This record gives sequence, C-alpha cells and structure tokens, in this order.
Amino acid sequence: MKTLVGAVEAGGTKFVCAVGTPGGELLREARVETQSPVQTMREVVSFFRAYSRDLVALGVGSFGPVDLRISSATYGFITSTPKAAWRNFDIAGALREAFHLPVGFDTDVNAAVLAETIWGAGQGLQNVLYVTVGTGIGGGAMIEGRLLHGLMHPEMGHIRVPHDRARDPFPGVCPYHGDCLEGLASGPSLEARWGASPEAIPPDHPAWTLEAEYLGIACMNWICAFSPEKIILGGGVMQRHLLPALRDRTRSALNGYINLPEVTEKIESYIVPPGLGERAGVLGALALGSRAAGLSCGKALESTSL
Ligand code: ZN
Repeated sequence: MKTLVGAVEAGGTKFVCAVGTPGGELLREARVETQSPVQTMREVVSFFRAYSRDLVALGVGSFGPVDLRISSATYGFITSTPKAAWRNFDIAGALREAFHLPVGFDTDVNAAVLAETIWGAGQGLQNVLYVTVGTGIGGGAMIEGRLLHGLMHPEMGHIRVPHDRARDPFPGVCPYHGDCLEGLASGPSLEARWGASPEAIPPDHPAWTLEAEYLGIACMNWICAFSPEKIILGGGVMQRHLLPALRDRTRSALNGYINLPEVTEKIESYIVPPGLGERAGVLGALALGSRAAGLSCGKALESTSL
C-alpha cells in the first residue's frame, strides 16, 4: 500500500482534484467544472474512488467565505458565497462521509500560502502573504508559522483603497461594497470598466497604471497590517508586466516610513509571483491533507510528475 493524499482546490469555475505524495509529488490530476454541489461532488468523489485503497487523507482549499472554527456546528462549510447553490454547503463533510478519512480544510488562498512556504517562493519564512488577483481578490496569511484564521479568515480583497472618482468614475463591482479593492481591481472590474478581459488589454494601456496604483496601495496596507516577510501575488490579472509598476507604487505609498531593504532596493524579491505558479492551490490542498493525517510534507519539492 502506498501513502497517498487527495487534494481538492475548490474554485468558483472549476475544481482541481489531484492525488499525490505528502512530499508534494502530484501523480494524477483532473479538472471538474463547478456546477451544482451534487453534480460537482459526484465527479470529485468518483475521481478519488479509484485511489481509495491508498488514500490516507484529503485536503481542501476552498473558495469562500468558509467556516474554519473547529468548534462550530458548520465547520467545513462554504458560508455566505454569492454562488447561491453552494451557500451553506458542507464541502469538507461531503468528502469525510464519502471516504471516512481525515479532511484538512482551509481557504484556497491559505492553502496556497501554505504550499508556497513549504515548496515555493516563501520557503524558510514564517510570515508570508499570498494574494490572488483574478475573478476576485483574496489573501491568505501565514503569520509566525501558522495559517491565520482569527474571527473567520482574512478578507484582504475587501479593504478600501482611495478612489478618486474624478480620475476613475467607475463605481466598482463588489456586490457588498461597490468600490472596495475587489470592486475596483479584480478581473471582472477591469472587464466592466474597459470593455476587455485583462488578457486582451495591452501592457501600455492606462488600465495598468490604475491597477498598479490600487494594488500598490493595497500592498502598503497589507505590509502595515500584517508585517509580512514576503508578499506573493498570483491570479490571472497578475501579469508579469504589472509587477514593476506595482512595486514602485508600493514603495511610494510607504514613503520611507518602513525603511528596510526589503521594501526599498530589494523589493523585487519581496513582492514576487508564486514560485509554484498555478499549482500553489492544489499543492496547498495536498499539504492540508498531509497535515490532517499527521504526515510531514518534507522540505523541498523533489519533482512533480503527472
Ligand atoms: Zn467588497
């Protein structure tokens, strides 16, 4: 019998399922379209069924908000998501019932920051943020070596950044707050404001100046609030050409107040893309599952074969 762990990166448009070793080697992966919970979970369970003899645990990194309070009656549930069919759905419980195995559970972005600290850009660090800028904006936080939950879990995308309505009259797309950061700088907000998807907006378009400004000020806020040793920025909107301007805006927003090399001359290695690329989420789910089974994830990712 092998020791395998199942991983589920549960997203709003797709679920990425994988089986792998606790050391981070992914052996098989599948994508399942996010439909109703019943349909989606049927496909997810059927993917893992083939490995049930060797599986020792499962891990889930989920879109949210989710309930992470162990003592809560709704621990492991997706809670107040705008996706109505998934509201109050017991995603961790559905897998626990199907396989009778320990299930590690956290947000998708907490999963990603966990993987990045084990195998990716945050190795050896105790205080790291992972922020995804895509369909939404969300951040996971590793603080003093532990994933931050607190009252619920951080919602770093829903902070406020200064919004000059004379320069940018766009009202924002967040259904809860209008022009919070997610409302102003997520992929759907770029699309609604400029009439083109982020991938179709050329690098010299003024959209990116504004995007760098909003995200740079957000980074300043996150640096002041969390004191991270590194900020990892992923997601579909975070194209490479955006990073230099974003770092400049972060530095100018801080305005010399935090006078450390990380946020001045070494900022290129302080605000960085994910070391694991698009695999951060699913590898994070694998790490959550390994931890739920009490298994060590090891120090370095030896190889990733599919
Ligand atoms: Zn919001």
